[in-house]
Amino acid sequence: MDKLIHGIAADATVRVMAAITTETVREAVRRHDTSPTASVALGRVLTGTLLLGSSLKDFDRLTVKIESKGSVEGIVAEAIADGKVRGYIKNPLADLPQRADGSFDVRGIVGKGMFIVTRESGFDIGLHREPYIGSVPIETGEIAEDFAHYLMKSEQIPSAVLLGVLLQPEEPFVTCAGGVMIQMLPSADPNVAVMIEDTILHAPSLTAAIKEGAIPEELLKMTLGIIDYEILGEKQVKFECNCSFDRAVQLIASLGKTEVKAMLEEDNGATMTCGFCSNVYTLNENDLRKILETETL
Ligand code: ZN
Repeated sequence: MDKLIHGIAADATVRVMAAITTETVREAVRRHDTSPTASVALGRVLTGTLLLGSSLKDFDRLTVKIESKGSVEGIVAEAIADGKVRGYIKNPLADLPQRADGSFDVRGIVGKGMFIVTRESGFDIGLHREPYIGSVPIETGEIAEDFAHYLMKSEQIPSAVLLGVLLQPEEPFVTCAGGVMIQMLPSADPNVAVMIEDTILHAPSLTAAIKEGAIPEELLKMTLGIIDYEILGEKQVKFECNCSFDRAVQLIASLGKTEVKAMLEEDNGATMTCGFCSNVYTLNENDLRKILETETL
């Protein structure tokens, strides 16, 4: 089971988060049938979004959106407080040959564009407040650097972000995935930042550690070295969408009577695919008739 932890370090001057997201990324790749490079890109965005949303409260929602001019066209991930994340890549087939060192050319398929973060609260209980929206141009397109760049430029938080997705040629294609995020608060000692940078520089590869069974606490230790930390919370995380047959019916109904009638007479039904999770909902003639009977438009 995937897990996300968050806490504080260096006398509460540093915020830390770490997650194992292997199952979450596997589920996203399975649902969207992504190419290898797209799988890595989507997996990194899902993991980064979970880390950035590690302290979400009930009814909070965090959305990370990449609007890209590259072949991915766009990537969206949305996390809520209970550890559920969902997301998609606009062009799941975007792909490039692996680099000589075996890494995936995520930057090559993401290209230039915007990195946009939306924080909402009270979204499900009618207490919708103005969302907070921050956006910055894509920095490298490798995703982890883009999260760090966003935190620095938009929220004035110097940070270190490590995101890893390791693939294999055979199913389930994702060997392992996870990430670490370290955020320096204004009170942080600059020496602590230097120590963390140095520890990260000399740490073994993140995915190698996860492949060998590292838990989130160990990922933090790899990043923090001798700096003390305290865990404030942990939760299980998973890929889960909130779409349903009822929501699909509501959406079809909202198209209006004329449209629904046409679906009934011309297509004898309707199908809807959820963009976030690729679930397909099929409405038969009876379902459409029911809409026409109750629809007041
Ligand atoms: Zn869905």
